[in-house]
Amino acid sequence: MSDIYTSILDTIGNTPIVRLARLSPAGIELYAKLEAFNPLGSVKDRLALGVIEAAERDGRLKPGQTVIEATSGNTGIGLAMVCARKGYPLVIVMAESFSVERRKLMRFLGAQVVLTPASEKGTGMVEKARELAATHGWFWTRQFENEANADIHSRTTAREILKAFGETGPDYFVTGAGTGGTLKGIARVLRAERPATQIVVAEPENTPMLASGIRQQYKSDGTPAESHPLFRPHPMMGWAPDFIPQLTADAIDTGLIDVIQPVGGSESLRLARELARQEGIFCGITGGATLAAALEVAKTAQQGSRILFMVPDTGERYLSTPLFESIEQEMNAAEKEISNSTPLCRFGVPTSQPAVAAAVAIEPAPDSARDFVEQAIKDPEQPVVMFALEWCEFCWAARRFLRDLGVAFRSVDLDSVPMQANGLGGDIRKVLHSVTGQRTIPQIFIGGAHIGGAVDLLDLHDRGELVTLLGKAGVAPAGDPTITARSYLPKWLAARSAT
Ligand code: PMP
Repeated sequence: MSDIYTSILDTIGNTPIVRLARLSPAGIELYAKLEAFNPLGSVKDRLALGVIEAAERDGRLKPGQTVIEATSGNTGIGLAMVCARKGYPLVIVMAESFSVERRKLMRFLGAQVVLTPASEKGTGMVEKARELAATHGWFWTRQFENEANADIHSRTTAREILKAFGETGPDYFVTGAGTGGTLKGIARVLRAERPATQIVVAEPENTPMLASGIRQQYKSDGTPAESHPLFRPHPMMGWAPDFIPQLTADAIDTGLIDVIQPVGGSESLRLARELARQEGIFCGITGGATLAAALEVAKTAQQGSRILFMVPDTGERYLSTPLFESIEQEMNAAEKEISNSTPLCRFGVPTSQPAVAAAVAIEPAPDSARDFVEQAIKDPEQPVVMFALEWCEFCWAARRFLRDLGVAFRSVDLDSVPMQANGLGGDIRKVLHSVTGQRTIPQIFIGGAHIGGAVDLLDLHDRGELVTLLGKAGVAPAGDPTITARSYLPKWLAARSAT
């Protein structure tokens, strides 16, 4: 990229269209529009910018006013970016069932996330957003009805498609529908300017709300009156909430849809993985689901057809969902075999080199370091002392555990800049080695007594002995003494000791 942008928001849109090399059936050209190239990784970055700038233009959104929206995640993440850049506080309402990565991303971007019970479904989220907006005077972006949602797709996404496919356009355009903004916004432009392009909308096969023809009932403000009778839970996060949004209904009512294509959940998950493995395209569940619909279309399409399908977001948002369920964390048998095919760095096999710790003699240390350690471990004001490294995972585990247990402690961070400046940190390590016989960090002392490292501390607690020891040193934990200390260990270590 040679341009310099003055705002991250200027990088939204103009996403690439990539031809599938290996998943295109013989004689058919499949093209993926990769919305993960938007700065916050999804198609909803476009909507976020569109609805905020429309509201700024017509004065409905005042400078500094709080913005609120109900979302399954991607809209919230996009809005969090736009609101961060433009300086609006943001509150997101989201059902607890959507992946936790999404909540954390929004909070990372500075938004507040209010969860709603999964049992209240999408309509519950929307009701809560409406109630909060009305009560607090916040600006509700109303993505399911807001024309600015469809407009931004007509102005940007549709134009990008026309430019890429030239005079004839793609033979088929395949998309799913969450709000229906992508569908309505792109389909109306294609219909008007490339009337030969067939518009295909995919929906979960167990939730045939669109295929049924059963109309959604709305309140006077355009929000759904109740759940659609055919809604069922499905894995295509971001598609088919438990109602047909007004934007989707508009697309149907104005005759923009040629084919409604049902797709299965397992097939969608499988094809998202195939896109990754066969094409190097990393996407979320709805990307696989849209490909599933495109492949169905391909079965009856004429030879030479060009089928464009939307890939709405990135797969990184789905690590905790069924998409990654079969992806192992530990080495499988084949990987272990590779590891064992050469001698170095294997698990469960004693190393051929002498252990470093055993080979190194205890080194002398200057008196200043001895005095420091002596004073620190005998300090009556701070009976719990940890000699630590600032960012070591074990030190972090011990600190988090002690904090949750409600125990005040002193952490002497031996690698902090001041400790390194005069070599004191390194000298203290030598003293600790000579006093404890141990070279590992952290080393923890309670009431002057050495209790060992992080694992020793945690095990002491899980054996029920730590609270007594603390009591003898005059320390009473202010937190919950029933916490399981081992759970504070780094996850990779916990996993290894379990096998
Ligand atoms: N896929 C994902 C992952 C989404 O988050 C969304 C938006 N909710 C969509 C598809 C559908 O986009 P639209 O709202 O424009 O219909």
